[in-house]
Amino acid sequence: MPAISRRAQSLGTENAFVVLAEVNALARQGKDIVSFCIGQPDFPAPENVQEAAIRAIRGGKHGYTPSAGIDELRTAAAKYLSGMRGGLPIRAEDVVVGAGAKPFIAYAILSTTDYGAGDEVIYPNPGFPIYESQIVANGAKPVPIHLHEARDFAFDPMELERLVTSKTRLLILNTPHNPTGGMLSKKDLEAIAAVLRKHPNVWIYADEIYSRLCYAGEFFSIAQLPELYERTIISDGASKTWAMTGWRIGFTSNPVLAPHFTRWITNTESCASQISQWAVVEAINGPQDAAAMMRASFLERRDLIVGLLNKVPGVACRNPGGAFYAWPNVTEACNRIGVADSEEFRQRLLHEAGVAVLADIHFGSRVPGEGQHVRFSYAASKPAIEQGVTRMAEFIRKNTRKAA
Ligand code: PMP
Repeated sequence: MPAISRRAQSLGTENAFVVLAEVNALARQGKDIVSFCIGQPDFPAPENVQEAAIRAIRGGKHGYTPSAGIDELRTAAAKYLSGMRGGLPIRAEDVVVGAGAKPFIAYAILSTTDYGAGDEVIYPNPGFPIYESQIVANGAKPVPIHLHEARDFAFDPMELERLVTSKTRLLILNTPHNPTGGMLSKKDLEAIAAVLRKHPNVWIYADEIYSRLCYAGEFFSIAQLPELYERTIISDGASKTWAMTGWRIGFTSNPVLAPHFTRWITNTESCASQISQWAVVEAINGPQDAAAMMRASFLERRDLIVGLLNKVPGVACRNPGGAFYAWPNVTEACNRIGVADSEEFRQRLLHEAGVAVLADIHFGSRVPGEGQHVRFSYAASKPAIEQGVTRMAEFIRKNTRKAA
């Protein structure tokens, strides 16, 4: 048998998809599962966006587009990204459209580090698991920076200062954050910027896919701070803002790297779906009522789930400032029911109580001293949230009695 590369064999994954398969298998067996494991809005894409896609199909928009995307979308996205970020001077030619924001994580690493050269990439831990897997697969050195509950899941800029070396090529930031829902405040970003100004060779990948889902004040990007615009790769997209995860449109801007990202796309997917691109032109330029309604709905559900979780014995949940994730600390609950860690807790919660969540180890190695956490994606109906958290509380109560 011919060999499979070490690279392919060591490639990481997004365990949300693995757990989702497990949940679907249980559901097929007739198990009643309340699922909080997948990170996508539970709404259809807005009507006007659907109509625009149908018009594109009927209007014969079936072919390849330029690898960077259609001009109409690059122009719309440039204006949109700029408007959301204090009027940054983003031009259409700085924007590249891809099949989701996700591919740009790889393109950014590929465009700023060399394979096996010892180039380092700093990324948040816990964090979106694709950061680490793409850093490793592309032969760079992963340098996790730990997030802390006491800082509402931001990292300590002093820790960044310690981690940056002459080999650091890229810093990945994600705000609002998956999986914690945490935000980097303007003050945090200013402290990070002060560190980065001392290290002009470090690029920044600002993963801002949840930019429209901020509940604690206005969204603010590190690219808005003095001297950082040119070296910040701003990444955003349609998936979360307009409930378009399956349509696969993301857009990234950087004045220097845009032509390089375009060339990666020519080498991989050629271009994003033309139909989806026309739909996102409408999503950006058309009425924003649906996006506003969804945000308001997520905010209501955040308040509901955080309130309920904090009444569960042995569970403490910070109030997440953005996205649609809650990241409760379940250390005490694990102790009470006598499970070793959050992963055993997750498995038992799924099989014994029919509640599907993800565990902290699905988002990187557990941060020392930070305890055990699980992730709820609260893009679920209010009755599902009530039922799921009630089941979890009963599961803990019942097993506490048993353990005692
Ligand atoms: N970054 C983060 C932090 C995410 O949570 C996600 C989606 N789960 C993505 C990027 C990718 O989004 P998409 O490819 O759908 O645009």
